[in-house]
Amino acid sequence: MPELPEVETVARDLQRRVAGAVIDDAEVRWDRTIRHPLPSERFVAELRGATISRVGRRAKSVLLHLADGRVMTVALRMTGALIVADPGTPDDRYARVVFRLGDGRELRYRDVRKFGRIGLWERGGVPRPRRGRPKPRGVAERREPYRVGDVFARHGPEPLASSFSSARLAGRLKGRSARLKTLLLDQSFIAGVGNIYADEALWRARLHPLRAADTLTPDEVRRLHRAVRAVLRQGIVNRGTSFGDYVDTEGEPGANAERLAVYQRTGQPCLRCGRPISRIVIGQRSTHFCPHCQAAPGNPAP
Ligand SMILES: [Zn+2]
Repeated sequence: MPELPEVETVARDLQRRVAGAVIDDAEVRWDRTIRHPLPSERFVAELRGATISRVGRRAKSVLLHLADGRVMTVALRMTGALIVADPGTPDDRYARVVFRLGDGRELRYRDVRKFGRIGLWERGGVPRPRRGRPKPRGVAERREPYRVGDVFARHGPEPLASSFSSARLAGRLKGRSARLKTLLLDQSFIAGVGNIYADEALWRARLHPLRAADTLTPDEVRRLHRAVRAVLRQGIVNRGTSFGDYVDTEGEPGANAERLAVYQRTGQPCLRCGRPISRIVIGQRSTHFCPHCQAAPGNPAP
């Protein structure tokens, strides 16, 4: 499943390849891919003629900013990919939405398992601190126009933003009894981290995945902060981690899988101490760690 580095790679490629392009038309081949506006005919009608001004990322979504201020969000989820196809490229049976660009190319939203979602939103909607009852989830049913900021209202800070300091992480960990692995996967805690980079960050920080968040020393918080940012940056430099599904805008896999320290390396030697990597299941997610370097809660560090 694409996490922050994979989505960032796609967004940067698209910025280079389709910023400035006009979307002449779109074809929706799998209705449920479209989240907003509905029905999908309305999505197509509202998109026709729009210019892509720039491409960015928030959490695990690609953001295509349109010249008129609206924003198209693409959540790739499990197997989604955005492929730029030159004229004459054979059709793709897994293309769920096809955007026809003014220069003859196609931007294809490809998704084998069909979990990804695409929305078109008004600008604005900067999240305010949550108060009282949570917002309703069915955004498309709301009467007022939904704005792109509202889509991400439940998401936590971006871990690579300069404002995401070690002190800010410490503040978010304070009073939380959740286990570190669980918390790192919680998108309302920090955005963009998934199973692969959570395991990698905890190994790098030498913290056991079952440690309770509020038991970390100030030094451990600093290590975790550095580790989360380092593994995400390394993932971006290597154009993402591919285990079969993730590909970039040219259909190519990333190179980060061979540089992972623990994820899917069960039984192989730890890159730091040489002892075998273990695998446990936390919250139904497989978790990889070194039992020697990452001391269990209650045990002194080696
Ligand atoms: Zn080790």
